[in-house]
Formats: sequence, structure tokens, C-alpha cells
Amino acid sequence: MDRRNLYFFYRNDTIESDEIETLFDLAEKNGFKLVSDDKDANIIASIGGDGEFLQAVRKTGFRDDCLYVGISTGQLGFYCDFAINDKEGMVEATMNSQIEVRRYPAIEVKVNNESAFYCLNECSIRSSLIKTFVMDVFIDDFHFETFRGDGLIVATPTGSTAYNKSVHGAVVDPKIPCLQVSELASLNNNRYRTLGSPFVLSDERSLTLKVVQDGNDYPVIGFDNEALSSRHCKQLDIKVADRRIKTVKLKNNSFWHKVQRSFL
Ligand code: NAP
Ligand code: MN
Repeated sequence: MDRRNLYFFYRNDTIESDEIETLFDLAEKNGFKLVSDDKDANIIASIGGDGEFLQAVRKTGFRDDCLYVGISTGQLGFYCDFAINDKEGMVEATMNSQIEVRRYPAIEVKVNNESAFYCLNECSIRSSLIKTFVMDVFIDDFHFETFRGDGLIVATPTGSTAYNKSVHGAVVDPKIPCLQVSELASLNNNRYRTLGSPFVLSDERSLTLKVVQDGNDYPVIGFDNEALSSRHCKQLDIKVADRRIKTVKLKNNSFWHKVQRSFL
């Protein structure tokens, strides 16, 4: 397969068509071949924000044999290294090999022991009722705690700056393959107790959440920016996935540059 087969992923309603045309021309002038099926691509470029990048990875099947690239239509985010307005910057970067490949850990989730789903930001599970939601939390086979409250977020390192950060989880370097578990409004009193702080698990561990079957067992399960259609849930098995998502890194744009740019 040609290594310069390029597929653009975007929503028609969000981007001007002449802007897309300009980008297509630019790509072809620089030796890329545009393909109309993402399966033929070895580079998949999303156009939009981080949310669009997450969709691009999800809709193309979390491939580990291609390079994903984020082109931002607004401010540079966490997954977008290029800005649509900076066309010279894009060309220059590809020409002068200012690009390194980096690999981002993803997580693998099995719901009720069925087929696996992948997440690049996080898997979240929360109550769909105004009633406490109860889960037994196992680390490997060890019963660690019984959670009562709204739900839990299990984030990847790159997802640590998203939902996880809003609930005071730590920002984690993506060079550390791990899972971070953080709580959504846990009940903590003389009867019920959870750790109460986020915790981080190594890629050698697995996390099992057994939903207590007490009537509140149709939780909302989210994989990045997509919700699983409402269904009966008994168990989630979560671990760091074997596959990683490859993307580009420009010089002077490490993860920590992005954290500084976004938050400081
Ligand atoms: P959204 O609700 O439109 O976006 C939430 C915001 O998070 C957007 O500004 C988005 O950037 C940004 N974002 C996405 N991934 C990020 C990351 N890894 N680090 C830092 N910021 C990130 O939904 P969306 O754009 O489709 O993004 C989905 C993500 O939203 C979910 O995976 C979850 O992490 C997050 N979320 C957060 C909360 C919360 O903080 N309370 C609640 C639900 C979901 P762009 O504008 O560039 O897309
Ligand atoms: Mn968004």
C-alpha cells in the first residue's frame, strides 16, 4: 500500500467547502493521494476539534496500522497538531521531517463479556436514574471497594486532561500506559466508604466493575464522545489496550506544551 494514501474525516456542515478544496489541492500538490475509503488510507486526518479527532479514530475502527492527524479549525487542542489556517506550517512540517510519531495508550472495555470497545479519552459509567448507583470495584480479582454514587470515569493519559480533569483527576504523561479511575459524587459516610481520591492502575492490571442488580442497572456508558445505547449492564472489564493510536508530534509541541498552552 502507498504510504501517502490520505483520507480526510470531517463533518460537511462544519467546514466551508472551498476551505476543504484548498486543503485537498495542497495535499495532492505535496504528493499525497486522496482516497475515498478510510480502509485504503495510511494517514487519516480529522478536520475540526479534539471531539472530531475522537470521532475519526472511532469511526475508522481504532486502527493501529495507520497514522491519525488532527487538523484544527479553531484553537489547537490536545489531538490537533495542525491548524487549518496555517497551510505553510503543514507543508513545511511534512517536508522538513519535523514530525515524530508518538503512540497514545487506549483502553479496552468489555461490556457483559461481549465484544471489545476502545476509548482514547475515557470510559464513563453513570446512573441514568436519580438514585444511587452501586458497583463492586475489583482490581484484578481483588474486591477493592463498593462504590455508591453517580458513577466512575476511567481515563487514559491523554484523556486525563478532559472529563477526568473536571473531577480533579491528575494530568498524566502519555508516556505512562495506565488507567486513572475517578469518582463522580461518591457517597461517603459511616455506612458507605470508597477511596474518595482518584487512583492509577498499571497496564498489567485489569479493572472489573460489577453493577449491583438492584433496579438501577441500566447505566449510561460513554466511550469518549459516544454513548452506548441504553442497555442492561452487569459487568465492565477494563484494561489498557494492546493497540496504541499513532499520531504525529511536531517539534516543541510535547504533551506538556499542550497542557501549558491550554491551562496555564
Ligand atoms: P464536548 O462536550 O463538545 O467537549 C468537551 C471539551 O473537551 C471540548 O472543548 C473538547 O475540545 C475538549 N476535549 C476533548 N478531548 C480532550 C482532551 N483529551 N483533553 C482536553 N480537552 C479535551 O465533546 P467532544 O468535543 O466530543 O469531547 C468529548 C469529551 O468531552 C469526552 O471524551 C470527555 O472527556 C469530555 N467531557 C467532559 C465533561 C466535563 O468536563 N464535565 C463532560 C462530558 C464530556 P474541542 O472543542 O477541541 O472538541
Ligand atoms: Mn468538541
